[in-house]
Amino acid sequence: MALAATGALTVGNPDDTQVASGNLQKLSAQASVFSGASSVGSSGALSGRERAVSRDSQREAMQDAADQQLQAAAERQARQRNAALQALAASAEKQASLIARNLWQLPVTRGVYHLTSRFGECSLLWSHCHTGLDFAAPSGTPIHAIANGVVTSAGYDGAYGNKTVVTLADGTEIWYCHQTSYLVSSGQQVQAGDTIGSVGSTGNVTGPHVHIEVRPGAGDPVDPYAAFIAHGITP
Ligand SMILES: [Zn+2]
Repeated sequence: MALAATGALTVGNPDDTQVASGNLQKLSAQASVFSGASSVGSSGALSGRERAVSRDSQREAMQDAADQQLQAAAERQARQRNAALQALAASAEKQASLIARNLWQLPVTRGVYHLTSRFGECSLLWSHCHTGLDFAAPSGTPIHAIANGVVTSAGYDGAYGNKTVVTLADGTEIWYCHQTSYLVSSGQQVQAGDTIGSVGSTGNVTGPHVHIEVRPGAGDPVDPYAAFIAHGITP
């Protein structure tokens, strides 16, 4: 134990025990060595040494007590530090899982798609301005869930074609439209990255793509591009 090393400040050594128990011959020899006294065997030298030994024992006892207090304090500190570290680790883990839950993924593997139409663009093709973000990719390309959620509908919806709606924990609806086929059904739990269907041309389209809509609180659509950015990924 490191703290006990301070005990070495006293002149104590293993022989002291023998000295104290009355090994006078050895004591006198030691006394002469320590003091350089020529009066080996004289009672004066012995009594002086005995007093020194007694003081040493007392000092050691006090030192031991101090050591124990120091050790207890050190152990208490270590326990407090460990508790603080554990609390920190737990909070970091919680934060990481929060972030992980809020991070979004791309609906189509990067490099496979290109964005063809953005939110708010207006065209004769739509009865109103564009309400989503279009990821164009070859028909049959897997579509991945953007975020964790529950499938709240999967079915044909006019201009949207084959549409799957995944509702996230915060109530946001993600719409995946114009699919060739569905791989999930209503009530199913999906994790970000799960393959939920495939890119197609069903509904009102000029070519195969997945039209993504983001509807906070199942209300009006917001710009999916900005929503992706807000959730840590640039489409
Ligand atoms: Zn679209």
